[in-house]
Amino acid sequence: MEKTKIENDYILEVKNLKKYYPVSRFSISKNRAYVKAVDDVSFKIKRGTTMGLVGESGCGKTTVGRSLLRLHDITDGQVIFDGKDLSKIPEGRLRKMRPQMQMIFQDPYSSLSPRMPVGEIIGEAVKEHNIVPKSEYRSYILKVMRDCGLQPQYFYRYPHEFSGGQRQRISIARAVALKPKFIVCDEPLSALDVSIQAQIINLMKDLQEQYGYTYLFISHDLSVVEYISDTIGVMYLGSMMEMGDKKRIFENPMHPYTKALLSAVPVSDPDVKMNRIILSGDIPSPVNPPSGCKFRTRCQNCMDICAKKAPKLKEYEDGHLVACHLYSQD
Ligand code: SF4
Repeated sequence: MEKTKIENDYILEVKNLKKYYPVSRFSISKNRAYVKAVDDVSFKIKRGTTMGLVGESGCGKTTVGRSLLRLHDITDGQVIFDGKDLSKIPEGRLRKMRPQMQMIFQDPYSSLSPRMPVGEIIGEAVKEHNIVPKSEYRSYILKVMRDCGLQPQYFYRYPHEFSGGQRQRISIARAVALKPKFIVCDEPLSALDVSIQAQIINLMKDLQEQYGYTYLFISHDLSVVEYISDTIGVMYLGSMMEMGDKKRIFENPMHPYTKALLSAVPVSDPDVKMNRIILSGDIPSPVNPPSGCKFRTRCQNCMDICAKKAPKLKEYEDGHLVACHLYSQD
């Protein structure tokens, strides 16, 4: 009984997720090359909490987000949402579940149809999925707009009449109008001015408090992730390098890659000296990643074993997992 309760605390469980893309669709070679965009990633997210997913561009975080929503097929692994394995759900049933899993996109300019007025953008899927009775439709959309800081007179206006921040509010309203349980937020602040970012992130926090949404917050900005997240996952070249509670990751980063990322976060106190760790070299190709530890070509602590054996993601403190040979792998 207790076990069921604990399992139910997690709205999402990802097990050994893989997403590989063939390099050439027309290759006839048996040894076809693949871009391993996501390579054996596992994590869980508790209901009503936010997991931040960080890493440099091309580390696979957006592919993880899209795979969770089954916006594309996965190569292997399981995505268990609210107790159901999404890979086993037929397309028809998955369509009915879609409102429960939403996405907020990075670019509020290209993600909104320029030919639809705001009320219709927010309400189109509400009608399609019968989220509220027809008689309540208009008042419901106006309430969602109000919740997202959009005035009622915007109902008939078009996206081009709005600033970037207001457009992102419209995107958020479109997602939350479907009464989702889980929202993937894919770099939702990166196209906005810094002054607007704080307003949007506070809106997302307020909505979460009010409606209990669970977020996967994808970002390369660790200051933002620190503000909004409860747990954090650090990805590099398609793999999870470190994962745990926000406090543990920020106060006691263990993986050399996490340490390097955190060392680049600006601090507000001018007396605090920043000991920035500069990562040398480029991210290796995900088609042909380094043997052993994928981070070894840029790691200052690299040892012989790092080229021979890939480190396992192991729990070293309660809820703090790291994949690195600097720590015991037994
Ligand atoms: Fe660096 Fe080795 Fe740890 Fe990889 S396993 S992060 S190369 S010390």
